[in-house]
Amino acid sequence: MKYRLLIYLIVIIVLAFVFGFSTMRVLNQIEDSHMATVKLHLITAIEFIENGTNSFFREKAIRVSDWSSDGNIRETADRISRGKADLKESLGDYILTKKIPLDPYVLAAEVVDEQGKILASTITQEDNESDHLNSFDKETVFKLKFGENAFSMPILEGHHGVAQQLMAHFVSPLFSLADSSKRIGFLVIHVRLDSFFDNIRGENIKTTFGNPKLYLFDHTGKIYLPKEDSSLAKNEIDSILKECAADQKNENGIIKETTLPNGKKTIGALVCTTHGWWISYLAVDQAKIMSQIMQGRDEVALTLGLFLLLTMFIYAFIEFNTSKKIKVIVQVLRDVAGGNLKSRVTVRSSFFSEIIQSINATIDALEKTLSEEHELEKQVASLGRVKNEFISIAAHQIRTPLTSIMFSSDELDKNSKSLPENERGLIQMIKTSVGKLNDFINFLLAATRHENGATRFNLTSFALNELTEELMETLDADILKKELGVTVKLTPDPLPNIYTDREAVKQVIQNLLTNAIRYSKRAGKILIDIKLKDKQIEFAVQDNGIGIPASVKDQIFIKFFRAENAKEQSRDGIGLGLSFSKSLAESWGGKIWFESKEGNGSTFYVTIPVVGTPEAKNSIIG
Ligand code: ADP
Repeated sequence: MKYRLLIYLIVIIVLAFVFGFSTMRVLNQIEDSHMATVKLHLITAIEFIENGTNSFFREKAIRVSDWSSDGNIRETADRISRGKADLKESLGDYILTKKIPLDPYVLAAEVVDEQGKILASTITQEDNESDHLNSFDKETVFKLKFGENAFSMPILEGHHGVAQQLMAHFVSPLFSLADSSKRIGFLVIHVRLDSFFDNIRGENIKTTFGNPKLYLFDHTGKIYLPKEDSSLAKNEIDSILKECAADQKNENGIIKETTLPNGKKTIGALVCTTHGWWISYLAVDQAKIMSQIMQGRDEVALTLGLFLLLTMFIYAFIEFNTSKKIKVIVQVLRDVAGGNLKSRVTVRSSFFSEIIQSINATIDALEKTLSEEHELEKQVASLGRVKNEFISIAAHQIRTPLTSIMFSSDELDKNSKSLPENERGLIQMIKTSVGKLNDFINFLLAATRHENGATRFNLTSFALNELTEELMETLDADILKKELGVTVKLTPDPLPNIYTDREAVKQVIQNLLTNAIRYSKRAGKILIDIKLKDKQIEFAVQDNGIGIPASVKDQIFIKFFRAENAKEQSRDGIGLGLSFSKSLAESWGGKIWFESKEGNGSTFYVTIPVVGTPEAKNSIIG
């Protein structure tokens, strides 16, 4: 249980680690691609801003050129320049009401003479004495032909009633309507860059990770936008300028990371124009981008934690709920193994219902079969008892008259000297047959007595070789009849006495010798080999007779079994000798076995414990 929990925990932790590790890897990849998306987004936005700004400037340049070709403006300006000062106001009004409403980015406009003095203005309080061309590169401006234009660096300016803001001035020369070779002066328009950049920013650069900041500065590092923000440190601007200087020809966006003076890291896209004056840098707070990823990480960690807790909970639930039921099932199985077939699994469980049903059904079937078997065994046992009783009664009944016949034949034999030869032969035949019959009856009685458990062992010390010779004498007639050669071998010679029941040993050896003689061919050889081995006697009888077919080797010690070749060889024998011998050998703690090859002969072995060994005593008494 403890081990299971430990293994389970280890598996869960390993799984959590593997899962966590691979999730982190995926998150890292997501982070990379997220970062790439951010960069792409910034680059696209900055390029859009650059293109937008270019077109905006082009458009405003066209605007000033277009207005400078207006006949009314040209003619009125011509007349003002020629002294008609009273037209000043109407020209200012004309531009203010007829031209400026066409372009909301134009804040004001003025017509100036070649010295930059105002001839007319949309702003009435404008200072007439100043040089209103001074925001331009004069050399360029004076070279402009009809319809051509130029623009100034952005400037921060405020007009009367209008707050200071980022502006750019656009200029185009004005030529006399009557004499187009005569330049009257210039038309200057004031364009609101602030609102343009506000619009372009608002439309294009809002991102899911906040509103990036648009920085605008010129190639000297002067910052124009954001106006009241100096968050981009001088050194960062310098580094951006350097970047632009190194990348002069590239007007595509460059990704640049910067650190603000407050330590915040930003990531931005940069555009450096080669012809213009501006450098725009669109920057977003890196921490904001990362926070989304970090949030993802936190969620993964939380999910993993919850997963761990949940699986622990499920495990505890299963452990608690099912282990109880499994214990009940195991107990029932133990009961059954211990012989209690009345035990059944009574717990209910939807999870184990099939197992429980089949266990109970199996025990039912087992109980039924065993009770039937038990019944059968009882019947067989009672049949066996009846059979044993019958054999015992019959043998006893035969024995009484047999004893009389034996006694009579002995008496006859004693007084047979005067009888003719053939009659004496008949008496001898009676004696031999009756002797054999008596042996058989004794064997039957001993076997049934042993089977009934009524054998009483009488332990004595005796010499096995003497017993063997004694038996050989009784079997001598059969040996002679078959002309068999019998050899006895003792190792060591003489053998030590053995201490066991002489009658039991005699019975076994007699069976083995009888079989060897019975299943030998005429003039066969029999070797009786008795050896002392590890405090035991190994008694072996070897013949070169008919042998035992391999197919029946396993049935030789079964009661009443006789092999077909044995039946052909001899009608004597009923198939009880070996089963009885095995039972006797086992009762003294010995073993009985054989080696045989059909047609080549057999060797039967039996082991008998030596004199005085406690094992021998115990096994026989038991
Ligand atoms: P049986 O009275 O038939 O000899 P056993 O129980 O002594 O009965 O032997 C059982 C069977 O074992 C025999 O019928 C015979 O088939 C086989 N058997 C026993 N001893 C030998 C042997 N020495 N040679 C060949 N077959 C044997």
